[in-house]
Amino acid sequence: MLSKYDIIVVGGGHAGCEAAYSAAKMGSNVLLVTMNLATIAQMSCNPAMGGVAKGQIIREIDALGGGSGVVTDKSAIQFKMLNLSKGPAMWSPRTQNDRMRFAETWRMLLEQTPNVSFWQDMVNGLLVEDGKLKGVKTVMGVEIESDAVILTNGTFLNGLIHLGEKQFKGGRSGEGASYGITEQLVDLGFETGRMKTGTPPRVDGRSLDYSKMEEQPGDEQPVKFSYSDETNSLEKQRSCYITYTNPQTHEILRSGFDRSPMFNGAIKSVGPRYCPSIEDKINRFAQRDRHQIFVEPEGWNTIEIYVNGFSTSLPEEVQLEAMKTIPGFENVKMFRPGYAIEYDYFQPTQLKHTLETKVVDNLFFAGQINGTTGYEEAASQGLMAGINAHLKLKDLPPFILGRSEAYIGVLIDDLITKGTEEPYRMFTSRAEYRILLRQDNADLRLTRQGYEIGLAGEERLKKVEDKIEKTEKVKKFLAKTSVDPKEMNEYLESLNSSKIKQKVKADSLLRRPHITLNGMRERSEYLDRKLSAICDLNHDALIQAEIQTKYAGYISREEEMANKMDRLENVKIPPHTDYALLSSLSAEAVEKLTEIKPVTIGQASRISGVSPSDISVLLVYLGR
Ligand code: FAD
Repeated sequence: MLSKYDIIVVGGGHAGCEAAYSAAKMGSNVLLVTMNLATIAQMSCNPAMGGVAKGQIIREIDALGGGSGVVTDKSAIQFKMLNLSKGPAMWSPRTQNDRMRFAETWRMLLEQTPNVSFWQDMVNGLLVEDGKLKGVKTVMGVEIESDAVILTNGTFLNGLIHLGEKQFKGGRSGEGASYGITEQLVDLGFETGRMKTGTPPRVDGRSLDYSKMEEQPGDEQPVKFSYSDETNSLEKQRSCYITYTNPQTHEILRSGFDRSPMFNGAIKSVGPRYCPSIEDKINRFAQRDRHQIFVEPEGWNTIEIYVNGFSTSLPEEVQLEAMKTIPGFENVKMFRPGYAIEYDYFQPTQLKHTLETKVVDNLFFAGQINGTTGYEEAASQGLMAGINAHLKLKDLPPFILGRSEAYIGVLIDDLITKGTEEPYRMFTSRAEYRILLRQDNADLRLTRQGYEIGLAGEERLKKVEDKIEKTEKVKKFLAKTSVDPKEMNEYLESLNSSKIKQKVKADSLLRRPHITLNGMRERSEYLDRKLSAICDLNHDALIQAEIQTKYAGYISREEEMANKMDRLENVKIPPHTDYALLSSLSAEAVEKLTEIKPVTIGQASRISGVSPSDISVLLVYLGR
């Protein structure tokens, strides 16, 4: 009934949307099969994008030409740049989003992408003939052919929802679970496991007393995620609020522990360590008498509120009673209780760097199915799976990002090299080159590559080239222009920085702690006039030049380290290496290397259980 497609994407979540969008934009004929077309790009948990390390990922997706940055900007209700008091490697954009608008904007973007077709149905198996992937089959009894399939099933595979002592089958609140795929993949030789995640209650904003909470407005001068001109920064914003739990709240929550699936043995799988439930927090940190609660609006016009920090699977009446003890929540009305969900995932060591499975050719996995948690982590994998499925079908070289090129590179390398036993989320600490992987330079790092593979458009490339040119001009100008003690000393003194006795080059002054380019421009009319002329009001180029000047030493040190590591990344290991024949390797190394099949010495060196002496053995074997 349905014609044959190049690529079928199963699941319209964050991974599925990016996969369908990227592959179709590059020219593949894509079918997006999802259980419910009305829940495309649903934010299952908090209505927010970005944050520490995750914000960098959204910028990288955007720089490559993916959709998440644009969709996030178009549906944002509040913008904050987190960690501005720290160095620029830690600056992290974050938005609060309108949940419904986010989903609608993604759907519109996909509908406007000519090569994307849609089919609402539940896929319950793959079509595999003689070990070759032929497409998918669905519960409606439809068989659809394709050359490649990308599975992005999220939390839906054999999903089991827990609420107090009650259990329901489901993929997330109000939606059915998905059956058949896990069982077939296991038959095909895949290893599967279970994970758990949870979400807090949603409440009626009209029932809250905000005067008892601290207001958290957005940035006074908000910027945005997308480097493109397709979106604008916010002109108005909605505030969030902060309040706290107290000993009484904890007492009520504790009274439900005997009915908690977390504590009565009903939930057996591991949850996200860094997103603990409220019952987990009061249990593990019993000495703390309060926990922060972020009160987050779910959109511009809705009265629904997301109670961030109160993730729970306790019985709904316990959730409600406990919330009523929180300042501002005395009269709270609950819309939906929090719950936990257990689901199947597949150990990502079964994947190649392209996110293609090692077991079945042309089958790709992306998102929560790979053991990750978070929209950004899912979206970035979807993007890379979509790109690589397209490239593979066109017989083009794969597109793989290195650990020194992108957080996306770190994420995928971590997953496929180390695997994960608990929901994996991105942190800046996972990246060894975080001074290189900043949110301000994702376009400089990635847009040309996105353009060359046919994903980022020419407009984006031109914009980046203009930024690079202006950044270089500003840096050169600062290196050759001197500033005067008369102009600068008062400023220096105000920051407890030693005064200058004679003229010094502007860039050397800028390298001092606390000195900013804006601060210097305010004191020197000449500097201000010249910089405005060079930059032609390109604010991004000014910031870029400032960061590159100020942190030049750190940046070049990390670049050197990355270059050294790249040498190991360039030493390829032949795919059919029989490690058991290398008698000097440790038994653990033989086992892990045989399982993971690293592509390079660099990747081998990151496998846990492979020691530096094992690496030496491999280097000798490879004639190095
Ligand atoms: P999803 O967004 O889950 O999308 C999967 C899509 O696939 C859905 O559209 C579904 O309909 C479709 N689908 C599934 N199976 C089939 C099938 N067989 N046929 C057709 N379509 C199918 N992340 C955090 O970072 N922090 C949190 O605290 C957090 N809490 C969460 C709490 C809950 C209760 C849930 C459900 C998720 C939570 N998440 C959290 C995770 C976050 O929602 C996911 O990481 C993210 O949505 C994963 O994106 P995805 O694209 O992989 O899958």
